[in-house]
Amino acid sequence: MVQGSTNWNTELTQEWLQNYVDDWVTFYRKHTADGELASYIPELEKADAGSLGITIIGNNGMTIRSGDVETPFTIQSISKVFSFIVACMERGVSYVLSRVDVEPTGEAFNSIMHLEMKQIEKPFNPMVNAGAITVTSLLKGRTSDEKLRGILDLLERILGYRPTIDVDIYESERDSSLRNRAIGYFLLETGVLESDLNITLETYFKQCSINITVDDLARLGMVLANDGMDKLTGEEIIPRQIARLAKVLMLTCGMYDASGKFAAYVGIPAKSGVSGGIMASTPPRVREEILPFMDGCGVGVYGPSLDAQGNSIAGIRLLRHIASHWDFSIF
Ligand code: GLU
Repeated sequence: MVQGSTNWNTELTQEWLQNYVDDWVTFYRKHTADGELASYIPELEKADAGSLGITIIGNNGMTIRSGDVETPFTIQSISKVFSFIVACMERGVSYVLSRVDVEPTGEAFNSIMHLEMKQIEKPFNPMVNAGAITVTSLLKGRTSDEKLRGILDLLERILGYRPTIDVDIYESERDSSLRNRAIGYFLLETGVLESDLNITLETYFKQCSINITVDDLARLGMVLANDGMDKLTGEEIIPRQIARLAKVLMLTCGMYDASGKFAAYVGIPAKSGVSGGIMASTPPRVREEILPFMDGCGVGVYGPSLDAQGNSIAGIRLLRHIASHWDFSIF
């Protein structure tokens, strides 16, 4: 709910909102000291732990950018949203869902425990590594570059440029991938993988190593907020049913095993990654009073210092603060 006595109705100028966000970024930047950089992919430890940046793009084009908005970083797990979307567009939703479920796990993103303990026929959801690797195996193409093409094509349609791969991160991830390989071998044994394991993993490491910025994440989040439609160009980029399903997965499984708390306290579909990115989608909402970004917006956040669940520690607090003050929740 909206806090304080601010009268957004009369104060909704871009400059006014920008000043608020600048203050909040300055405040929450201090919180980066409470977390730690991801270290299990050695190259990720080179990030500046004190970074914090945010971009918000509204459906009317109003854009607020604050903090470290120019720093490129790798998309990591946020790519799972787009590999899922592309697999659904290429293979059909029901086929993809015959291979991967839509249930939250409550476990770490790279957990292998449930796969064995629950004797499941398919991974829990496309936002954990087991599900994401399965989805990647469904992408069309024989080589990793062919499989990656669909994801890059989709990102290019939305962003207006073709993102590149960070080769150092890719190699670092590939060379430190024992857990993901273990998951891959387990999936191979259960028979859910549809492509060669090495090609699947190579594609997965490359998709995680796509370079991105907070501006990009905000734009991607905005298209999802509008059920796949790019309101700035009027083009439908992702079929509505698929965009909505992706948002359901973001809401229920997108923030690692803090997804329930994020849904309760922030209340919007979002997906984070271990490099410290968060992509969030605020759909248009109906309220009696006038609020910032009422027509919906996409939000991109970057803050590589992570909390115990693997989410950007300052980023999540900043987003919670904004969502609370500007009443972003869909509930
Ligand atoms: N490439 C990372 C991994 O699979 C992605 C993890 C993440 O961002 O959650 O370990």
